Amino acid sequence: MGGNSHSPCASCKLLRRRCAKDCIFAPYFPSHDPQKFAIVHKVFGASNISKILQELPVQQRTDAVSSLVYEAYARVKDPVYGCVGAISYLQNQVSELQMQLAVAQAEILCIQMQHHDDEPVIQIPETGMALDHKSYELPHQYLNFPSSSNVISNESLSSGF
Ligand SMILES: [Zn+2]
Repeated sequence: MGGNSHSPCASCKLLRRRCAKDCIFAPYFPSHDPQKFAIVHKVFGASNISKILQELPVQQRTDAVSSLVYEAYARVKDPVYGCVGAISYLQNQVSELQMQLAVAQAEILCIQMQHHDDEPVIQIPETGMALDHKSYELPHQYLNFPSSSNVISNESLSSGF
C-alpha cells in the first residue's frame, strides 16, 4: 500500500508526523489551509484539540472545530479577553440599541397621545367641509409632511373639478 498516496493533513504536516488513514484532524484541517491548524495549535495545543474531538460525536466535530478556530483567532487578536471581548462588545451594542428603541417607542406613544387628544376637537357635529379641512390639517403640525399632503390636495382638487 502506497505510503505517499495521500498527502498529510495540515496538522500532521505541522507536527511533522505521519498522517494515518484514520487521522482525527484530517477531515477538519486540510493541507491547503495550514493557517487554520497553526492558530488552534498555538492557542489550545494539538493534544487538547485531539482530546476535544475524540470526546465528541462525529457529527458535532465540524462545529467544534469552527468554534475553536474562531476562539483562537479572537484570543490572538485580543489576548486579554479573547472572544469574551467580542461578546461583551456586542451585548453592549444590543442594550444600547434596546435603549434607543425604547426612547423611540416612547416618542411614538407621546405623538399618538397628542393626536388622540385633538381628535374630539375635530369631531364637531357640523358640516362635512369643516371636518375634512380640519382632519386634513392635523398631520401638518405634528408630522411635518407638508410636501406630500400638498401633492395629495392638488391631485384631489384637480380630479374633483
Ligand atoms: Zn493528519
